[in-house]
Amino acid sequence: LAGQTGQERGVEVYAVGGFVRDMLLGIPNDDIDLVVEGDGIAFAQNLGRKLGARVRPHLKFRTAVLILPGGQKIDVATARLEYYEYPAALPIVELSSLKMDLYRRDFSINTLAIHLCPPHFGRLVDFFGGQQDIKDGVIRVLHSLSFVEDPTRIIRAIRFEQRFQFKIGGQTERLIKNAVRLNIFQKLSGARIRHELRLLAEDSAPLDAFIRMRDLGLLQEIHPLLHFPQTKEALLEEIERVITWYKLLFREEAPDIWIVYFLGLVSGFDTHQVQALTSRLRFAPKRIELVESTRRQLRYVAMQLAQWGKNGGSAADLYDILSPLSLEGLLYTMAKQRKLELKKAVSHYLSHLQDVGILVTGSDIKEMGLEPGPRFANILRAVKRAVLNGEVRTREDQLKYARR
Ligand code: ATP
Repeated sequence: LAGQTGQERGVEVYAVGGFVRDMLLGIPNDDIDLVVEGDGIAFAQNLGRKLGARVRPHLKFRTAVLILPGGQKIDVATARLEYYEYPAALPIVELSSLKMDLYRRDFSINTLAIHLCPPHFGRLVDFFGGQQDIKDGVIRVLHSLSFVEDPTRIIRAIRFEQRFQFKIGGQTERLIKNAVRLNIFQKLSGARIRHELRLLAEDSAPLDAFIRMRDLGLLQEIHPLLHFPQTKEALLEEIERVITWYKLLFREEAPDIWIVYFLGLVSGFDTHQVQALTSRLRFAPKRIELVESTRRQLRYVAMQLAQWGKNGGSAADLYDILSPLSLEGLLYTMAKQRKLELKKAVSHYLSHLQDVGILVTGSDIKEMGLEPGPRFANILRAVKRAVLNGEVRTREDQLKYARR
């Protein structure tokens, strides 16, 4: 339909970037990026009408986002056709189009395009050898100033390398090392670095990516305190395992994975050291509060958990210990436990106990002749503890317990 719309409007339309890369790799990718050689916004509005999609144009960048009824998004960009008019009736010269648009991208594997307009529908456009690099599994920049132009591309290179199990090409790796020597990260804003580190943590194999960054001297460049020693690798590996486990639970609440890794990276640090890092990486006040309050709770929780294990505490006691923690704090605590039975206890809390509810309500207690107040809350709490400990199950039993 996009191709047809392009043809009707007399403009060429291409699917580009990650979508094409993943198609060649056989990986599903719902993020469709289109490039239009012509007026991208007018095209998007036209296509949007046909698809019943909302269209959000961005006039300054000549881009638009289509939001389909199902929530799926299509990004539309304009390949800037720049015409240079010469004096004296010489023809107008077209200087840049799709090729220029693709040349601005990060790596050759992201520069592939597929023609969508008939009669060329489905034809692959490969200006920079991207197809061969996908075959060879190589991450390669398009020109030698690429990392100077945008140093975040270095972190992106490592992310793609780990995700696809590709290899950064020899010349590209030399350019990274050169960029490190030029202290390129020191001038880069904390917010941009943090954004890329977050994407890295959320992608596949974050630990290997962090190790790769460290070994290339990049973490050190961002801040000397980020350069984690080998002794921290076991904890980070455990974090990776716990997050993989949690994802398989398919729970609605999604953790901020980057924060869980960050807690691992700063384990053993004092408050000043943590502040130095949150300030370098321009954490938002809310995230700083999450990190600081979680770190304050962690020491106490670890002690209580150890006691609980020793004394063979109940499920209700476990609930009381763990329920004040954020999801990030819980996942970190699970990773941090060396004893298997304590690790299992946290996992039991995450997968079962935290969902436990009771079937007795406030109105039930009112019917028993009690007015709302502290006793009221205590009764509900006692019922909840009994349910957590498996002492009562049905509503009948819970009501009986409440009356007692
Ligand atoms: P992902 O699967 O992670 O979404 P993607 O390739 O679609 O991968 P995006 O971050 O969504 O990545 O970016 C879309 C496109 O924009 C990429 O294919 C890439 O060519 C280009 N791009 C993104 N960031 C940069 C950058 N820093 N420098 C140059 N090009 C970039």
